[in-house]
Amino acid sequence: MYFCVQIFHTKMLDITKIRADFPILSQKVNGKPLVYFDNGATSQKPQIVIDAISKYYQEINANIHRGVHTLSQLATDAYEASRKKIQNHINAEFSHEVLFTSGTTHGINLVASGFASILKPGDEVVVSALEHHSNIVPWQMLCEKTGAILKVIPMNEKGELIMDAYDKLLSDQTKIVTVNHISNALGTINPIKYMIEKAHAVGAAILIDGAQAVPHLKPDVQDLDCDFYVFSGHKICGPTGTGILYGKESWLNKLPPYQGGGEMIKEVTFEKTTYADLPHKFEAGTPNIAGGIVLGTAIDYLNSIGFDNIQQQEKELLQYATEKLLEIEGLKIFGTSEQKTSVISFNIEGIHPYDIGMIVDKMGIAVRTGHHCAQPIMAHFCIPGTVRASFAFYNTKEEIDLMVEAVKKAKTMLS
Ligand SMILES: *Cc1c(COP(=O)(O)O)cnc(C)c1O
Repeated sequence: MYFCVQIFHTKMLDITKIRADFPILSQKVNGKPLVYFDNGATSQKPQIVIDAISKYYQEINANIHRGVHTLSQLATDAYEASRKKIQNHINAEFSHEVLFTSGTTHGINLVASGFASILKPGDEVVVSALEHHSNIVPWQMLCEKTGAILKVIPMNEKGELIMDAYDKLLSDQTKIVTVNHISNALGTINPIKYMIEKAHAVGAAILIDGAQAVPHLKPDVQDLDCDFYVFSGHKICGPTGTGILYGKESWLNKLPPYQGGGEMIKEVTFEKTTYADLPHKFEAGTPNIAGGIVLGTAIDYLNSIGFDNIQQQEKELLQYATEKLLEIEGLKIFGTSEQKTSVISFNIEGIHPYDIGMIVDKMGIAVRTGHHCAQPIMAHFCIPGTVRASFAFYNTKEEIDLMVEAVKKAKTMLS
């Protein structure tokens, strides 16, 4: 008789070892060990990423897709290899559906500006109440230009989008829906698979702002079946000024180029210019070559840690911090969805978030204060802003204890 014994290998993360990969984490700030809880704004960079930037400039720096000389070919190969790596990471069908951008903002503007040639007056664009300003303003500008109408999916008190209301907003008029995968201000994980299906059911395209999702999970764009998925490199241990716009081939062929210039053309005469094939049609000018290559290095680094491990560590940090913070009297957490990532937005009754941020900074603790580029969310809760602590896999419970102590001190000083 055989017994099938299943052994679960949950590799425990060696956080001390991981922290040693990030030189900035051993710094002191204001004479205190740095506690970096502003990962929602940007992540820190491991040494392997920092080194890869110098290595590029030391060894293969050259312009890409142009020269026949050896360095140009090496740089081109490395850049295109990174594109392939990112294609695999997000499971895009073709590498030419993966466009390098300067970040999420650039990706959204590229798509929104392309839709100017598609929308007619009276068409509708659906955004959500949970969006970052960079996923609101480009669509407002598009609506102003085209006479299309902006519709907003409302949210409930937990900071979750209301799906009944979403269903009712959709109609034949809807041409594009744009929503974040995860909210930067509240951490809510939106039911995007459902939302994508619903958008397609009325014939609308859908863009997913994945800026806050990719640090925590590996999106599968084919499984999601989204038309566009955008994110920034700097929130996933990569360099600033890097990002990705995934677009379905059929959509990228339909949209006009965003910028004109070198690299994006097939043939130029003063009478007429023909555009290059994908992905080059959308990559005018010399790109951030080192950044694009090193974004691949950052993704390799995250995969070497493993997204299961990242999620496990962040979940524990979120639970621990939520419990500890709620022990503070008068502290209220905004964004209480069951489905949320390691972001805690909070306020203490009668105290301005900015004052808390200032005081805890003196104790070496970096949290974000303010409206988090999401003023409509703050308006919904009738608050000027929040204190936001956002955790990454390299953070620890000891750091959370330090933050909680600092917040308690701030409360005593301010009340
Ligand atoms: C950070 C962020 C953006 C903007 O990203 P940039 O890197 O500044 O272009 C957009 N949406 C969300 C949800 C974000 O968190």
